[in-house]
Formats: sequence, C-alpha cells, structure tokens
Amino acid sequence: MQINKYLFISIILIPGFLAAEDLKEKLQADLDPLMEKVIEWRHDIHEFPELGNREFRTSKKVAEHLESLGVEVETGIAYTGVVGLIRGGKPGPTIALRADMDALPVTEQTGLPFASKQRTTYLGQDVGVMHACGHDAHVAILMGAAEFLAKNKKNLKGNIMLIFQPAEEGAPEGEGGGAELMLAEGIFDRYNPEVIFGLHVTNSRHGHLGVLPGPAMAAASSYRITVNGVQAHGSRPWDSIDPIMATAQLIESLNTVVSRRINIINNPAVISVGMVQAGTRNNIIPDKSQITGTIRTFDPDLRAEIYDEIRQIARGVAEGTGTKVDVEFDVGGFYPVTFNNVELTNKYAQTLSEAADGKFFILDKPTTGAEDFSFFSQQIPGMYFWLGVNEPGVDVAPGNHTPFFKIDDRALDEGVKAMVYLALDYASNN
Ligand SMILES: [Zn+2]
Ligand SMILES: [Zn+2]
Repeated sequence: MQINKYLFISIILIPGFLAAEDLKEKLQADLDPLMEKVIEWRHDIHEFPELGNREFRTSKKVAEHLESLGVEVETGIAYTGVVGLIRGGKPGPTIALRADMDALPVTEQTGLPFASKQRTTYLGQDVGVMHACGHDAHVAILMGAAEFLAKNKKNLKGNIMLIFQPAEEGAPEGEGGGAELMLAEGIFDRYNPEVIFGLHVTNSRHGHLGVLPGPAMAAASSYRITVNGVQAHGSRPWDSIDPIMATAQLIESLNTVVSRRINIINNPAVISVGMVQAGTRNNIIPDKSQITGTIRTFDPDLRAEIYDEIRQIARGVAEGTGTKVDVEFDVGGFYPVTFNNVELTNKYAQTLSEAADGKFFILDKPTTGAEDFSFFSQQIPGMYFWLGVNEPGVDVAPGNHTPFFKIDDRALDEGVKAMVYLALDYASNN
C-alpha cells in the first residue's frame, strides 16, 4: 500500500518522476542481473590487484565503466584516482559515495579460482599482491551503485559524486596519496558535495551492515626507529656495537608503553611492530637495524605522550648499548580518527537497516582499524559503515590483511543497496 501511495504522490507532484521508494523497488527488481556484473568485476579486480598509486588497470576499468554509463569522468587525480558525476534530473544536494582501489603486499593463499598471482617488489622484497583488505569489493559495489544511479538519473534529485580513491593503505614513501591528496587536488572545491558515505567489508556476519556514531575508527600513526652500530665478524662480537641486541631491547620496551607507561583507562591505544630489518648473513653482525610499526589512538594528548615515551625509550637504549638511535614518526603520513557525524549516522542508520532487511547493528565500541576516509569526513559530514562478508552462518573467519581473507559474493548486494538507498534517502530529505 505504501508503494502505491508514493507512486501516487510522485505522479501528482512531478509527472514521470519516481520517488525514492519507487527507485528502491526498481533496484530490487534489477538487482540479480546487476549483481552478476558486480561479482564479475570484483573477481577481475581481485585477480589483478595493484598497490597504492599504481592502480592503473583498476582505475582504467572504473573510468571506462563510468564513461559507458554517460557519467562525467575526471581521471588522474592523486595519481590514479577517478571521480564521476551523475547529474540528477532535479536540483538537489551533491552526495559523495567513496570506494578505495588499492591492494596490499600480501601473498594470497585463499586457493580461489580468481586468486591473485601478481607479484611485485615492495620495500626491496619480492612479494605477492593481494586484495587482502577487500577494496576489490568496494570498487565493484560502487561501480554497481553507479550503474543503477546513472541509468535512473532522470529520477534523481541532486547529483551523485563517485569517488574512486587510490592508496588508502598509504602511498609509497615520498609520493603522498589517497584521500588527503585528492582533497589537496581540489575535488571537494570542484564538486562541492555536502555529505559523504563509504563502506568497508569485514570478516563478520554475512550481509550485516554495522555503524557507530561518533569516533568509529582510530587515528593511525607510524614510527620508524633506526639503530646504528658498528659492524663486526659474528665470531668477534666484542668488536661490534650490536644494533640487533639494541633492537631486541627496543621491541621489549615498546611493549611496555601501553602496558606500563601510559594511562589507557579512558582512551585505548595500540603499538605494534610490523617490520624488523637487519643483517645479510649468519656470521656478520650488521651496522644497522630498523624497526617500523603502527600506533593507534583516539586522543591527541595521549598520542603526544606515546611519541614522548618512545623517544625516551630510544634515548635509554642508545645510552645503554652505545648505539645511535633515531626515531621518526608519521613518515608515510598520519590518518586522523574516523568520525561519523552523529546526527547523520543516527538518521541514516534506518536506511542501512532497510538496505540489509534488518540485518543491521550499531557497534558498541570503535575499532582500532584506521581509514583515510577520515580526511573526507573532516571536511563534510560523513558516515562510514561496515559490511560483513563471511559465508552465511560463519562467525569466525580470517581477517582483513591476512592471506586467507575471503569475501562471500552473496553479501555484496547489501553493499550496493546501502549505497543507493543512502543516496536516495539523503536526496529526498535535503
Ligand atoms: Zn586495510
Ligand atoms: Zn581497507
């Protein structure tokens, strides 16, 4: 009955113009053939993953798709970024929908028929390349939403800005990239969106959408500690100043920052070591060693305290071992806390629930993951939400960034519906 009422109103008000509810019905009717394409795109992008700022093939595929839909397309933003603009048939707000395109230096072990066999040299190492964070799904979902919205643009109120972003996982050192660089290159000034929505797939319940108002994801800092010693034969350690021993001490002490040196009662923090590099041979004590890792925080004061603690630990280890220890922070950039506009999120939680047929939840706490979507949502109200992609009935599955991370294609329709519904509902309310 409700559908008929909306149809009736829309016919009375604007002849030929479909209301949001009618378009949702239409999407439901078009969904099966559309999802076939989305899944095909996802598999293709998955098989040929590309690292940050090198998403040449992916962005070409995106741009060609958007052009085929008659969408206005701008390419080459922040290296490989693509922005499309769908102009609706009726004036209204410009709504930004965002997907990230980059993959990770992870060697895939899923055994899928479309598993990546790509390899590259990353930080001097030969590694596999894999869409281990699921950005292949984000691209395919947004391509699918774009197809529906572009084909129905006469019935849209306002414009849809499609952002296909490079290098969410970070750009190669010295290049800059991602959301921050797209903004620096003026995409918000040119398209003037008033709101932005984005999603991330994750190893949680099949087809469930989740969101958290307020601070939703942590700020991500990085650190790099370089230890310089004196090289010697492995048989004569007394001739060396051993950077590896100093590094071992550093790693142990770094693990006391969160557990012993700062107060995390009100604000969680994480410090992890991700890389340890030293040496070339079993019987050489090298002259240099380096450790690199990530710091996750929610509070700027606590973050400053952590930086101070790490500097102090480094000074202590240098003093005790006779090495020279240099500490650098945020060499590859810094991501602020991802903040979901509270009013927006409370209002559009209902839209997410509708898109997922009630398979929806509000998270009870933020995650220590981080997102450079945060740069976008610092500029305009934003909402970033989660899509669970485990197989039906599976609660525990390998997580993002692991070589076994798998996406159940059957969960992606909730992603397409969420993006389209959010655009439609926001436009009708504003
Ligand atoms: Zn990731
Ligand atoms: Zn990601």
